[in-house]
Amino acid sequence: MTDAILVLNVGSSSLKFALYADEATPSVALLRGKIAGIGSHPIFSARDDHNLALQQTEGMRLTTGSTLDDIIPALLDWLKRHRGGVNIIAAGHRVVHGGRNHTGPAKVTEALLDELATLVPLAPLHQPHNLQAIRAVCSFLPTLPQVACFDTSFHRTQDRLAQLFALPRTLTDAGIIRYGFHGLSYDYIASRLPHYLGAKADARVVMAHLGNGASMCAMKARQSVATSMGFTALDGLMMGQRCGSIDPGVLLYLLDGLDMTTQELKHLLYEESGLLGVSGISNDMAILQSSPAPEALEAIELFCYRAACELAALCTTIGGLDAIVFTAGIGENSALVRRLICDHLAWMGVALDGHANERNEHQISSTTSTVDVMVIPTNEEMTIACATHRVTTQQVKRCRSQVQ
Ligand code: ADP
Repeated sequence: MTDAILVLNVGSSSLKFALYADEATPSVALLRGKIAGIGSHPIFSARDDHNLALQQTEGMRLTTGSTLDDIIPALLDWLKRHRGGVNIIAAGHRVVHGGRNHTGPAKVTEALLDELATLVPLAPLHQPHNLQAIRAVCSFLPTLPQVACFDTSFHRTQDRLAQLFALPRTLTDAGIIRYGFHGLSYDYIASRLPHYLGAKADARVVMAHLGNGASMCAMKARQSVATSMGFTALDGLMMGQRCGSIDPGVLLYLLDGLDMTTQELKHLLYEESGLLGVSGISNDMAILQSSPAPEALEAIELFCYRAACELAALCTTIGGLDAIVFTAGIGENSALVRRLICDHLAWMGVALDGHANERNEHQISSTTSTVDVMVIPTNEEMTIACATHRVTTQQVKRCRSQVQ
């Protein structure tokens, strides 16, 4: 029997899952998969460690309207059948918001769940689903140790100035600060940087996590110094459906001048803006890239212009730039987006090797570039597996020392 950690990364309409051997640094997932379309038409897919597709079984037949409470027990049952030689000893979850106190992963307890529930208004698209998944595992396997791994923790190394808004102190004290997100992805990239950059890994690096949600993080000594997302995951870069940074006067005008309700405004900001809003076609970069519509091109150009401006601003926080890392769906796969962003940064000495960029190679900067430009695939699930191993083994050690 191999002891394994189950990793669950639950979004608003999808659930990514993976099994990793319970080791400090497992090399590959024993199995990984996804259930997309939760709440509408769920679609299941999974692959083993040889990348072979695994079949859905009778018990896993998901129907329209299946919720996480139905899906998680069915998934746990499916995992038991498909990995007969595997003993799940803990579950690690992605939890988007850990507030200002959690600087690392935490063992799940009732008190922790209550605390994390208070943060739901700060991450309404993700936090409720993250917590629902933990509770669903708890009902099916009540004694299984669970660990919450926060997207905000990685940024708690930032100086106070980088976390402040220019608001009255009472609001800062009430927790209205810049938290930052995508920390599990940045943590993974930070752990891989020495492999790709050698000694430069500890220099001035800006990581660009460009997926459906998008943000950037400026790092020194592989620690977060500043990031583009703030109080919520709405801030910073233009995204698939979110507008990113916006003049707050626009919001006041929409509410008072155009009589929008707060619900309508929330929907506009989280669901109808960004690539989707500007193009009027799709939130999906690959679809926009293949569209002949001028609105699609304008949306891509705005995305890249805004990303380049944000990247240049982040350089101020680390006193210059030695390397850029592109990651996530768009960052790893879109040569066009990387080229358009880097074209805006030519004045800083950023230059791409066009062929390497087209082939999505790891090093895509040219030999004349003063900045290394890299493409490094992210792996948030691996970060969660390692963190879960750390927390649960410490727990076991603590129990043992109490017994002795
Ligand atoms: P999420 O934030 O949902 O995890 P991902 O990191 O999976 O998002 O990124 C999804 C985005 O990546 C989509 O906009 C998708 O179109 C884009 N993407 C994936 N592959 C390509 C590609 N080959 N070319 C351009 N964009 C791509």
